[in-house]
Amino acid sequence: MSAYLDYQAAKPVDPRVFEAMKPYFNEDFGNPSSLHNYGYRATNTLEESRRKIAEFINAPSPDNIIFTSGATESNNLGVIGAALRNKKKGNHIIISEIEHISILNIGKFLERQGFIVSKVPVDRFGIININKLERLITDKTILISVSTASNEIGSLQPVEEIVAIAQKKKIWFHSDAVASESTIPIDVQKVPFDLLTLSSNDIYGPRGIGALYLKKGVRVNPIIIGGGQEMGIRSGSENMPGIAGFAKAAEIMKTEINEEATRLKVLRDKLIREILKIPKSYLNGHPEQRTPNNANFRFDYIEGESLLLSLKDEKVEVATGSACSSKTLEPSHTLISCGLLHEEAHGSLLLSLGRYTEEKDIDKIVEVLPGIVRRLRILSPLTSSDLLKKLKEEEN
Ligand code: PMP
Repeated sequence: MSAYLDYQAAKPVDPRVFEAMKPYFNEDFGNPSSLHNYGYRATNTLEESRRKIAEFINAPSPDNIIFTSGATESNNLGVIGAALRNKKKGNHIIISEIEHISILNIGKFLERQGFIVSKVPVDRFGIININKLERLITDKTILISVSTASNEIGSLQPVEEIVAIAQKKKIWFHSDAVASESTIPIDVQKVPFDLLTLSSNDIYGPRGIGALYLKKGVRVNPIIIGGGQEMGIRSGSENMPGIAGFAKAAEIMKTEINEEATRLKVLRDKLIREILKIPKSYLNGHPEQRTPNNANFRFDYIEGESLLLSLKDEKVEVATGSACSSKTLEPSHTLISCGLLHEEAHGSLLLSLGRYTEEKDIDKIVEVLPGIVRRLRILSPLTSSDLLKKLKEEEN
């Protein structure tokens, strides 16, 4: 069995969720728009599911939840929909430098439509500078979009402070909560986001379904036009098995999140402690202010990709960064924004833990990684002569 340490890229569907979805494929397959009994039952499931997603984030009403096809679509609907809705008020949007690629590319799209997009920088731990954010605001700013946490380095953003600034300046605040929703409880009444992106798979539900939370009074222009489902905000026949699965996943996550986060933090801390014993290895991101399931390292003189492939041969499955950007040869924009050099950013290894990670998975990587790092460093032309001499002595 492999040790799977790439939960940030994909999570298995919880078997309890899978069971809950089954009836909606071929028994209760109705369309909520139909007026007969099948349609009636589908409407009940749809509204019951909406209620469970609202409860998951403590939203005051199920009407605050719009189902989408996933986080990418929620980000599109949230940011583009809000920009279009408010374009008479202003054309300026602020995002962070380390947003997920979907937000960065939405920013580029909006720039082509005449909007101005500013990017707030982060410190070396990947946390945005709140003063710089405040200074970027102009009287044309209509939206701030900063994720709750980085999907690559796990750094937690000061969302309470961003909310306070946005409220003071009467600017909407959108946040992509995908990277933290499986480990950090969300309460939109305590932290009153205007718009929030949620994904089902990131809480062990199926892929292809997500949601956008809209605070009361916040409306966005639709970007998918059609039959007017989802209160006219997101057309298209509802993905009922997905919606029922997402709701079940949210119900489970709501009750288990604290216990799960505590367990993962213990495993993650052991992982960090042990891996940092490897000479010239470093933790990327903030030592404490990070999601409980994220550990991201870099190792001098070697590339993350070679580490990933060597680990794969040992049946330890890891990533070098965001799965959505893994096909580009560019170094991680997040690590570059944290001030790393290109060669340092190329040396990173992203280990993300989840519901089914066990201590033996941590023990496995801790057992094999030091040898792999040593072997690769002996082969690397970048390794300093002093270290090379020492490594060769250790080998003999
Ligand atoms: N936002 C973040 C922070 C992500 O990590 C991801 C990828 N899991 C997405 C958005 C996009 O999600 P999806 O590919 O499911 O639409």
